[in-house]
Amino acid sequence: VAATSLNLVNLGGAAPVAQDPTRRSRDELEALAREAGRELEGAPAEVIAKWATDTFGDRFCVTSSMADAVVAHVFSRVSPGVDVVFLDTGLHFPETLKVRDIVAATMDVNVRSIRPRRTVGQQDGEYGPRLFARSPDECCFLRKVEPLERALSDYDSWATGLRRDESPTRANTPMVAFDAKKGKVKVNPIAAWTEADVNRYISRWNVPVNELFKKGYGSIGCWPCTRTTKAGEDPRAGRWAMFEKTECGLHV
Ligand code: SF4
Repeated sequence: VAATSLNLVNLGGAAPVAQDPTRRSRDELEALAREAGRELEGAPAEVIAKWATDTFGDRFCVTSSMADAVVAHVFSRVSPGVDVVFLDTGLHFPETLKVRDIVAATMDVNVRSIRPRRTVGQQDGEYGPRLFARSPDECCFLRKVEPLERALSDYDSWATGLRRDESPTRANTPMVAFDAKKGKVKVNPIAAWTEADVNRYISRWNVPVNELFKKGYGSIGCWPCTRTTKAGEDPRAGRWAMFEKTECGLHV
């Protein structure tokens, strides 16, 4: 990776997150993303993480589903104190909340649990019970998409743990790109990692992992919309299995 105008630096030691980043226009963010997307393709996750936190300072966050805590861990090493946003839908498995709590207690990151505007009970009252079983898109919008948009209003850029090998719909995930809908820079530092790469990182750094993986779940979301998967099945086949739906809408 060429260390040109992106001013990539060696990762000799972790630097604190900058406190006073320059606010940038949409055009500036788009240009930054275009240049970084070109120059950082293929770079190690730590280099991408360092670039992101150096570039955006406290206008940057990591998002995590707490299926595992790999991306949060990468950023905690590179940029201690970084914000980690978790969408607390109110319908998570206890095992998922346990990972969230371990991350908050053991990593040098600032976990922010973002809740939907309505509790599950309020949503049931307004939309009828079990909206997830009748209209999962609407339920995901209320409990995930809108809360993420609200959380991201504090930031110019965010990181995800998306990987190209997770499913055909994610095969072209860029490492850095401008999300035109959100008007922000989306950073996917482990986009090129395989499942084996993830497992190697987890073993090396003893990163917390959701216990549900050991119980046969290939991908983990809210409990009403997630089932176990069989050996050889697409890991995401257990998500919204009764619907023609493969994504919650966070990554469109
Ligand atoms: Fe609702 Fe299921 Fe989406 Fe969770 S994954 S927000 S329960 S539809």
